[in-house]
Amino acid sequence: MKEWKNNIRKVEPYVPGEQPKEQNIIKLNTNENPYPPAPAVCEALKRLDPGRLRLYPDPACGLLVNSLAAYHGLEPGQIFVGVGSDDVLAMAFMTFFNSEKPVLFPDITYSFYRVWADLLRIPFETPALDEDFRLRAEDYYRENGGVVFPNPNAPTGIAVTLDFIRDILDHNQDAVVIVDEAYIDFGGETALPLLKEYENLLVVRTYSKSRSMAGMRIGYAMGNPELIRALNDVKYSYNSYTMDQTALELGAASLAEEDYFCQVIGKITATRERAAKRLAELGFQCLDSSANFLFAAHPGYDGGKLFQYLRSKGIYVRYFDSPRIFEYLRMTIGRDEEMERLYQALEGAAYENL
Ligand SMILES: *Cc1c(COP(=O)(O)O)cnc(C)c1O
Repeated sequence: MKEWKNNIRKVEPYVPGEQPKEQNIIKLNTNENPYPPAPAVCEALKRLDPGRLRLYPDPACGLLVNSLAAYHGLEPGQIFVGVGSDDVLAMAFMTFFNSEKPVLFPDITYSFYRVWADLLRIPFETPALDEDFRLRAEDYYRENGGVVFPNPNAPTGIAVTLDFIRDILDHNQDAVVIVDEAYIDFGGETALPLLKEYENLLVVRTYSKSRSMAGMRIGYAMGNPELIRALNDVKYSYNSYTMDQTALELGAASLAEEDYFCQVIGKITATRERAAKRLAELGFQCLDSSANFLFAAHPGYDGGKLFQYLRSKGIYVRYFDSPRIFEYLRMTIGRDEEMERLYQALEGAAYENL
């Protein structure tokens, strides 16, 4: 083998959900929001000055940082922004997980955690969720180099309580604990009130799901100013201009319309509750979701075959061919009419050989 080939970084990359090109498909596979972003975002988009694109954006992302600080009642020094929460999380792994001790995250969780750990050569262990797919606090009492988990968890949708997070923090004063709140707007209790008490807590959020802006790539972290400074030091050592001008302006605009935001969340959570009922009627076992998706298995069907069958009907959901969850499908909550098409297809599955 050529010498240079030995020096190539070998990683097994994260596999994102498909973004199909065909029209008229029902896309319930990547937890996008089925409703458009706030009207204020569309207005801000129209007001954008193309002449401004000549200049570099503000490297400190002041407009967005200040808007988020005001929105959450925090200081600007407590906010770090990035190109989607994937960027923020990758920076956080780089910044905070530099111990010889393993970082801990659940065996069934957002699969990107394992990829970043591998890429950045961070040792890690993955304590198993219990039989009901719930986190066990005791698993995180052992010595570690950091803790990260989503709340609600993905792809299960199951949330933990604030007391549970407090317990994990009480047992982990010597490592950074990251709570990935990608889905918190759809249910569950935010860890934000704990920021006052725990200087090693980092809470990460995204615009991709609840704010209907996956295409804009905006994510952020909240934590004590020392954590945020450390994140910024790493960011400036890597790429000073992570956020483009458009993202900064549209991200700030989205925060100005709380009524619209609450309305969208209300519609999605109402659809989720109806969907959980319908799926149960169809014989699915559905985990208790606090997110904008349902994770469900049917005792009569093979998960992989059901996924392919739905795909053949133009309905894309997410299937993970991995231990413990290969019977399950993760179905994003779409508009009611999209969900009706899903139920119809699932009714039809009874006549197929799945
Ligand atoms: C979707 C998701 C992310 C990434 O979101 P982006 O902001 O679009 O990068 C991070 N964590 C979890 C658990 C997610 O489901």
